[in-house]
Amino acid sequence: MDPLAQALADTIEHYRRTHPASERVFNEATQVLPGGNTRSVLFFAPFPPAMVRGEGCHLWDADGHRYLDALGEFTAGLYGHSEPAIRAAITEALADGLSLSSHTAREGALAREVQRRFPSMELLRFTNSGTEANLMALASATAHTGRRKVLVFKGGYHGGVLAFAGGGSPVNVPHDWIVARYNDLDDVHARVASHRAELAAILVEPMQGSGGCIPGEPEFLSGLRQLADDCGAPLIFDEVMTSRLSIGGRQALLGIRPDLTTLGKYFGGGLSFGAFGGRAEVMQRYDPRGSGALQHAGTFNNNVLTMAAGLAGLHQVLTAERLDALNARGEALRGRLNSWLAGQGVALQFTGLGSLMQLQTLAGPIHSADDLAASDDRARALVFFDLLAHGVFMARRGFMALSLPFDDGACDRFAQVLEQVVGARRAVLPARR
Ligand code: PLP
Repeated sequence: MDPLAQALADTIEHYRRTHPASERVFNEATQVLPGGNTRSVLFFAPFPPAMVRGEGCHLWDADGHRYLDALGEFTAGLYGHSEPAIRAAITEALADGLSLSSHTAREGALAREVQRRFPSMELLRFTNSGTEANLMALASATAHTGRRKVLVFKGGYHGGVLAFAGGGSPVNVPHDWIVARYNDLDDVHARVASHRAELAAILVEPMQGSGGCIPGEPEFLSGLRQLADDCGAPLIFDEVMTSRLSIGGRQALLGIRPDLTTLGKYFGGGLSFGAFGGRAEVMQRYDPRGSGALQHAGTFNNNVLTMAAGLAGLHQVLTAERLDALNARGEALRGRLNSWLAGQGVALQFTGLGSLMQLQTLAGPIHSADDLAASDDRARALVFFDLLAHGVFMARRGFMALSLPFDDGACDRFAQVLEQVVGARRAVLPARR
């Protein structure tokens, strides 16, 4: 066995030995859930840890291990696991009863706060997830334009049925997709040239998140704005992840106004959430007072707990200053890790923006999914399992999203553990050429 494979086998064996309770939970679940799993991203072999508790930026598993949580629930855990203002808001809402079967004052209040932060969302509506928000944004665009083709990007992820890693997925919804290369306007123009009059929407993440924290270059994103204008097709910014990069998301940082925006994740205070909205002319069609209004249903769209938790988070916790400080912490951590890694001669780096980052197992610039072809997943697995053994939790695929409680001390601890892990494995990790 080559040394990297041997090191990986050893660290996985250690993981298995030290997680018997998690393995039991997993094995029992396999009787009723395929692969013991109801959320694909969470699985990794041989079995994921069964988490039992979270507090601040820490997690505990069923085997009694405590982890520094650098994953932050794939960005939905922005507030950490136990923000007092959010817990109090949920308790207060609970006291007034669940499932009230009508409008409440909360959805208007939450929508007003979202719109204050994202002025391009002149009118908006809530959903239960980011996936639904994107489905509705696309449906709005096709209804508005009467067209069918949708431009998306390889490596993009907009939900389980809107996934473009490798170009697409058999469970994707059947829009008439055009899949272009991210950060490559020439490729975009070549693919769209003969379809301009049929284009219903351009759906893009301002930074590809699941696809590897690859930032959209400003000229690329403004080129898409121009293309959308030229074709009369709404530009949809999927800010489900990137909305946290500033108080007004990445659109505010870039000064680009999309026609529609989708949100999700932390906006529900840690409960299930999604929102889509944008130009009044497009969204107005959902006004049920109008004749022939478009339908947008969803039993839990305005569920009282999400509305209350989301409002408490935005009103009481997530100021522009706190968000900027969190993103500055992320920038500083990524810079520190990258300069240390470069000095070690290993082909590892962290890509990303602000508090979002991704461990890459190759050196050199990364502009699109195609640049990741030479990634070494065994190296990523080795770092992942070694970090776990040292009490640090990130996504198995190397993704990290810092939470508000992930303070300077947590950043120091993360950097120290990563340096220890990579230092000890330097001989078997891929070398920087
Ligand atoms: N869009 C982006 C950019 C995402 O990262 C995700 C989830 O990771 C989604 C949409 C889907 O959101 P949800 O998981 O809430 O359906």
